[in-house]
Amino acid sequence: MRADKDLIIIGAGAAGMTAAQYGARANLSVLLLEEMASGGQSLNIDSLENYPGFPEPLSGVELSQRFEDQALKFGAEIESRSVRSVKKDNEIFLVETDRGTISSMAVIIATGAKHKTKGVPGEKELTGRGVSYCATCDGPFFKNKRILVVGGGDAACDEAMFLANLSDKVVMIHRRDRFRAQKALAERILNSPNIEVRFNTEIKEIKGSTRVERAILFNNADNTEYEKELEAVFIFIGSVPQTRIIEGVSLDEAGYIVTGQRMESSIKGLFVAGDVRSTPFRQIVVAAGEGAIASHSASQYIDDLLGKAYV
Ligand code: NAP
Repeated sequence: MRADKDLIIIGAGAAGMTAAQYGARANLSVLLLEEMASGGQSLNIDSLENYPGFPEPLSGVELSQRFEDQALKFGAEIESRSVRSVKKDNEIFLVETDRGTISSMAVIIATGAKHKTKGVPGEKELTGRGVSYCATCDGPFFKNKRILVVGGGDAACDEAMFLANLSDKVVMIHRRDRFRAQKALAERILNSPNIEVRFNTEIKEIKGSTRVERAILFNNADNTEYEKELEAVFIFIGSVPQTRIIEGVSLDEAGYIVTGQRMESSIKGLFVAGDVRSTPFRQIVVAAGEGAIASHSASQYIDDLLGKAYV
C-alpha cells in the first residue's frame, strides 16, 4: 500500500509550515498545499512582540518567511493549489485540488480561520472602499483620517493599536462594557491618547455613496442611535473556521474541529493543527506547537500502517 505522498498538509500558516518542517525532518515525503501566499493570518501582523526567541518585534511576513525557509530546508515540498475536498478511500486519503487529485497516507488540516463579517447594511457594498478587515493591509490608506474599529477581542485591540500609529482619530466600539481581550492589550488601548473607546456601542449601518462617509451607531446602555462621520471602518469580530473541504469530522458547537491531545480528529489518519482546531487559546506559538504534535502523530500513524511501529 503506497500513496503519492506520506503526508499532505493543507494550509501554510504557522501550524502547517511547522508540521511540514517536522514531517520532512522525520523523513516523510511531505507536500504542503496552500492556495494563497504562505503565512496565513500571520501575514496581517505588523509587529509581533510575543513570539518566543524574538525579543525585538518582527513582522508576521518575516516570521512566515523563516517558517517557510525552514520547512523547505528539511525537504518539504510546497505547492500553490486550492484544495476542493479530502476523502478517505480504505486507508488512503484522496486530496482533490484544482489541478488534480493527490493521494497520501495521512493528512493534516491546518486551514485556519477567516475573518467574520458583521452583516450590517453598507458593509458588503463598501468593502474595499473604506470597510476593511486588515489594518496592516489597508490602514496606510487612512493616515490622519477618522477611523472606526469594531470589536473587543485581541485582534481588535492589536489592530487598533496599529491604526493609532497612523491617526489620532481612532474610535473603537465594543458591544459590551469591557474588552474580551487579554488585559495587557486592553490596557494599552485604554491608555492610548489616539484611541477613544466607546463601550456598549454597536454598529447598525455603514453609509457612503462611493466611499465610507458615516456610520450609524447604537448605544445599547441608553438605547440611543446616532450618526458618526468617518472615512474608514475596520471590523475585527472573530473568525470562522475553514472546514469546508472535509466532511464527516467531529466539530464543536462553534464549528471548529475537535481533536485529542495528539491532534487526531475523529477520522483515523486525519490530524488537525492551528486555528481551525477547537482550542482555548489561538496564538502563533500555539499553532506552531500543534503543527509539531500533529506531524509527530501522523508519522507514528504511518509507521503503524506500514507495520514499522516501535512497540
Ligand atoms: P474573539 O476573541 O472571538 O473576539 C471577538 C470579539 O468580537 C469579541 O469581543 C466579541 O464580543 C466581538 N464580536 C463577535 N461577534 C460580534 C458581532 N456580531 N458584533 C459585534 N461584536 C462582535 O476573536 P479575535 O479577537 O479575532 O481573536 C481570535 C483568536 O485569536 C483568539 O483566540 C485570540 O486570543 C487570538 N488572537 C491573539 C492575538 C494576540 O495574542 N496578540 C491577536 C489576535 C488574535 P463579545 O466579547 O461580546 O463576545
